[in-house]
Amino acid sequence: MGFLLPSFDEATEKRFDVWRASRLNDALLAPVAIGALAMFSFLLWDWLLDPTQFLACLTIRGTGTIIMLWCAWKLLRTRSTPAELRWIGMLAVSSGTVSIALSQYLLKDGFLYGPAGLALFPTVSAVVVTRARQVPLLNLPGFTVVVALLLLKGVEGFALFNVLAFVGTGVFASCILALALERTARYGFQLELKLEEQAHVDPLTGVANRRRLEDEAKGEVERARRFNRPLSLMILDLDHFKGINDRYGHPFGDKVLRALADLGRTSLRQTDLFARVGGEEFVVLMPETNAYAAAQLAERLRALLAATPVTEGELSVTATVSVGIATHGPEAPSVEAMMSLADKALYVAKAQGRDRVVIGRSTMDRGTEPATL
Ligand code: GH3
Ligand code: MG
Ligand code: MG
Repeated sequence: MGFLLPSFDEATEKRFDVWRASRLNDALLAPVAIGALAMFSFLLWDWLLDPTQFLACLTIRGTGTIIMLWCAWKLLRTRSTPAELRWIGMLAVSSGTVSIALSQYLLKDGFLYGPAGLALFPTVSAVVVTRARQVPLLNLPGFTVVVALLLLKGVEGFALFNVLAFVGTGVFASCILALALERTARYGFQLELKLEEQAHVDPLTGVANRRRLEDEAKGEVERARRFNRPLSLMILDLDHFKGINDRYGHPFGDKVLRALADLGRTSLRQTDLFARVGGEEFVVLMPETNAYAAAQLAERLRALLAATPVTEGELSVTATVSVGIATHGPEAPSVEAMMSLADKALYVAKAQGRDRVVIGRSTMDRGTEPATL
């Protein structure tokens, strides 16, 4: 947690940027459009101050308004990336500031009466940035034009200081506001990450839950189909688990569930997804894995559990698991079909006496019994 802002790791910072840009994209449409019309409406002020420059000011403010409305249109049409949003934000703020500065340059005593107008866009620029540190850079083009026009017009002394103080105060106020907004956004993003994680994790074992498995499996099946890559899954179901609960109590049963989850976590590849999908049922989704390799992995897990008693004080219980395996293919083209095939194999494993691995055969191999490893 930094002094000014809470920070994330590098990858999460990138996600935060994209997340914030997408939300700002939606939130900015109205402010940019309203800002454009507000800036244009000050044409009345130009006319009251110096009617001789009305047409020139109309052209300047009209051009600025069109650019800002084009920015609003861009926001409406596309979901901006962080980089696109930076350009759109800079263009909108700069065209607002430059239009006001050019009008004041043309008007008699424009810079004397109008510094508040020049502070408008620097002050509101806080709302267009994904990060507070972008505020000074965002205002740089507008600020440079203001200084150049002040010098061209020969404004000096206190009048010069006055305009610069207004614009500078606007940028400063924007930095403070942007910091507060970014801090709030970071807390919101953090909360969203936490909720997202909670929605995809099984609270008892800490492994993925059914929802996460379903989300990932869809994508993996699509990938396997499109690129013709192997994909397997296994269903693991603890044997006689009701008996374990009845004999040693529910909390000990929970400990057995966590023990199997720990074995899965430590012995699977990073790309495999290990999920608890029901009471004492787990599924492992294995991309880039054919039936044979999946069976080897399942056998390793099965043997590991059978060789690792779960203990509590004096108590030492050996739990076993039965496993059914399915591989993606023409006969099991979807997640549901793969699950159903693995479930049938699991049923066979249970029927054959439990504590074993069975590979599900598709109906292509009609007449063949599921293979027991
Ligand atoms: P089988 O070998 O045929 O799979 O028999 P089984 O006893 O494992 O199967 P059954 O479906 O009859 O029982 C599953 C048990 O799992 C029943 C239920 O009490 C228990 N269970 C489900 N969720 C939990 C849990 O979160 N914690 C604990 N401790 N037990 C659970
Ligand atoms: Mg079961
Ligand atoms: Mg069971």
